[in-house]
Amino acid sequence: MDTVTTIDDLRARLDAVRAGGGSVGFVPTMGYLHEGHVELMRAAVRDCDHVVVSIFVNPLQFAAHEDLEDYPRDLRADSRQSADAGVATLFVPSGEEMYPVEPLTEVTVASITEEMEGRFRPTHFAGVATVVTKLFSIVGPCRAYFGEKDFQQLALVRRLVLDLSMPVEVVGCPTVREADGLAMSSRNVYLDADQRAAAPVLRRALLEGAARISAGERDADEIRRVMTAVIAEEPLGQLDYVEVADPLTLAPLEVCDTSARLLGCVRFGTTRLLDNVAAADGDGESR
Ligand code: AMP
Repeated sequence: MDTVTTIDDLRARLDAVRAGGGSVGFVPTMGYLHEGHVELMRAAVRDCDHVVVSIFVNPLQFAAHEDLEDYPRDLRADSRQSADAGVATLFVPSGEEMYPVEPLTEVTVASITEEMEGRFRPTHFAGVATVVTKLFSIVGPCRAYFGEKDFQQLALVRRLVLDLSMPVEVVGCPTVREADGLAMSSRNVYLDADQRAAAPVLRRALLEGAARISAGERDADEIRRVMTAVIAEEPLGQLDYVEVADPLTLAPLEVCDTSARLLGCVRFGTTRLLDNVAAADGDGESR
C-alpha cells in the first residue's frame, strides 16, 4: 500500500489504473479507523481492482464549537489496518492541499438534510456534500462505499449522485457493532466507563420501536413515544431526537410500516452517538 498526500500524485496513479482497464473503489473516512471502516474496505476490495481510502478530517463539516481540533487521530494504526484489508492507496491530504483557498462553492442537498442531524448541526451536511463532491472529482471512483451507520449521510450521497449524474455507484454497507450492540464509532473513545456501559440504550430503544412496528403498530407518534421512554430510563443519556422516517427521503412519517427507518441520537456528556435500524429488524432476528 502507498500513502499519497497530493491530489496530483493521486490522479496520476489512478489515471494509470484506469488506463490499464482497472476499476477504482473508494472509501472516504475521517480516520481513527475501526472494524466498521474495515468492513467498507473489505467490500471495496472484493468488488474493485484498486481501492483508495481517504483520511481527511474535513473542517467544512464541523461547526466552530464542535470537536474538529480534538477529533481522534492515529495514522500509524490506520495505515496498518488499511494495508491489512488490501487497500492499494491511502490518500491523506492536508487541509492546505484540499482547501488552498477558502472555497466559494458549496454543495447542498435539500430536504433529506433538513430534519434530525440537520436540525442539530445546521451547517454539517453542506460540508459533507461539498467534500464528497470534491473527493469524487479527485478520485473518480467506479464505486464508493458508505456505512448505514450514518444513514442520513448515505441518503444524501445517493441523492447527490442521482441529481448530478455522477458516474459512481454508491454502495451502502451494514452497521458494524460492538458485542453489546453499540454501533462502532471513532467518537466512542470519548465515552467514560459509565457512559460506555450506558450507550447501548439507543439501539435498545430503536429495536423496541421496530418491534412495535413488526407487531402491527402503525402510529409513528406512538413509536416515537416508546423509543423516547426507553431512553428516558437511562439518566446518563440526553435525547437529541428519535425519528420514524421514510427510508429514502428521510421525511418523518405519521403512519408507518415495516419499510420505515428508525433513527436516533443520544448525547452522553458532549458526545453525540447516532444509530438507526430498519423497522423490519423488529422481527427479532437481529436482536
Ligand atoms: P467517518 O470516519 O466517521 O467519517 O466514517 C467513514 C465511513 O465509515 C462512513 O461511510 C461511515 O458511515 C462509515 N462507518 C462509520 N462507522 C461505521 C460502522 N460502525 N459500521 C459501518 N460503517 C461505519
